[in-house]
Amino acid sequence: MDRRLFVKNIGLTALAMSGTHELLKGLAEFPEQGEILPALFIGHGSPMNAIENNEFSSNWAAIGKQLPKPKAILCVSAHWETKGTRVTAVASPKTIHDFGGFPQALFDMQYPAPGAPDYAKMTIEEVKKVHVEPDYEWGLDHGSWSVLCRMFPLANVPVFQLSLDYTKPPQYHYDLAKELQALRKKGVLIIGSGNIVHNLRLIRFDNPAAFDWAQEFDLKIKLLITSGSHDSIIHYEKMGTMANLSVPSNEHYLPLLYILALQQKNESVTFFNEKTMMGSISMRSLKVG
Ligand code: ZN
Repeated sequence: MDRRLFVKNIGLTALAMSGTHELLKGLAEFPEQGEILPALFIGHGSPMNAIENNEFSSNWAAIGKQLPKPKAILCVSAHWETKGTRVTAVASPKTIHDFGGFPQALFDMQYPAPGAPDYAKMTIEEVKKVHVEPDYEWGLDHGSWSVLCRMFPLANVPVFQLSLDYTKPPQYHYDLAKELQALRKKGVLIIGSGNIVHNLRLIRFDNPAAFDWAQEFDLKIKLLITSGSHDSIIHYEKMGTMANLSVPSNEHYLPLLYILALQQKNESVTFFNEKTMMGSISMRSLKVG
């Protein structure tokens, strides 16, 4: 819910009459009973979006301003793949610069948000179908911080990550994500960070227009999301050539499944950053709820 609407709903008049900032602060705390935070899938694209002012990074900043302040943020990033499912449980996650060939300014970036060991523990308890292992090595990879530094530039919300088990099929990820629903009710903002179309081998720098197959796949997925056809999205491989080209490996696609799995019957989906970069990177992003 929009923060202003949220404040309005809890009684703007009473707040204005009270005249104390502390009351406003207390009442604006999330969640109120029965409220749940939206869930986001962010097409993160190039790490340069962290330091470049462009349409994508400005939209991330705008979304961050609209959201109520979460108690913690759980990121499912394309850039953390493990055998088995892991959750970061460190108190101060390091900023990981997991890329090469970019300007020094990007390597100088730090995102000093605190970790969320308590929420990591809660995640391990909530997920019953599979064993989730606490992790004390990983920090925040660029799938997380390149987006979060725009959405929450103050780095004052605790952040933790959930890994992608690369040995498991898409259905596993979708089913696991269903069990994360309880976290939303406890004030956790869940973000999947990847790209629906992500083919680095075929990117072109001379022409930003989407390849036909990239556009076709991106729009097909949008349509399937709109109609709630999650099964077809999970079994994307059945879509043949356009799927093979758009998802040559599925680590950037899987975070989408985590967010769709969280969609409840009464929740709508809003799309933003509906654009494809360098021919084969779809920036399409969406908000559930
Ligand atoms: Zn990436």
